[in-house]
Amino acid sequence: MLTRRLFCGCLPLAAGFISSECAAQAQPPACEVFTKSRQQAETTETALARLREGHARFLAGKTVNCDLLAQVKATAHGQAPFAVVVSCIDSRVPVEIVFDQRIGDVFVARVAGNFVNTDIIGSLEFATKVAGAKLIVVLGHSECGAVKGAIDDVRLGNLTATLAHIKPAVKAVTAAGGPRSSKNGGFVQAVAEENVRLAARQLVRRSAVISEMVRKGEIGIATAMHDIATGQVSFAAQA
Ligand SMILES: [Zn+2]
Repeated sequence: MLTRRLFCGCLPLAAGFISSECAAQAQPPACEVFTKSRQQAETTETALARLREGHARFLAGKTVNCDLLAQVKATAHGQAPFAVVVSCIDSRVPVEIVFDQRIGDVFVARVAGNFVNTDIIGSLEFATKVAGAKLIVVLGHSECGAVKGAIDDVRLGNLTATLAHIKPAVKAVTAAGGPRSSKNGGFVQAVAEENVRLAARQLVRRSAVISEMVRKGEIGIATAMHDIATGQVSFAAQA
């Protein structure tokens, strides 16, 4: 409760007592949920800055402590996320945590190897054209098991078809700097980075909806890599 009192900026009138006015303002400003008007005031640049700032808070151990149930109630009648992130299913890359975002802030599409296919692209078209998100981020990561599986040509049930989506990135990296194997860390990282670039390119090539929005400056596409050893996310220049 102490944190809330400090954030709301009004002092308790007596020990253990918070006025109703103060309680209504108990959430820090960063916990204000995204409404349609707040979302429409965002641009690609402010959306990217918002993710960068959230990530800086995460790295500094200064994530914002919000009342998540209050955010659930505040978003119950609609959502207006400012960005959409394509990420791997890897448990070490929890998107909302590494960008310090909460309920209703970002759409997240997760699939092993963070590639894009018709279903993911359709989801991104919904997130941007229908729901109004201003920025698409394709987020890859180091030590990706799916990338390693694609490199080693792993075959297992439906996973074989999943990993096939990463094969173009494996093929595209010609300078392996050693064996073309998952044991070659430099090659694994190079393929993961190429996989992210290819995904971003595919979005524009395969989606008339997304490419038109990019051309009109209504949305932007960014790529980034997450280092699972440090927690650090590095953004590349916008695609
Ligand atoms: Zn992965």
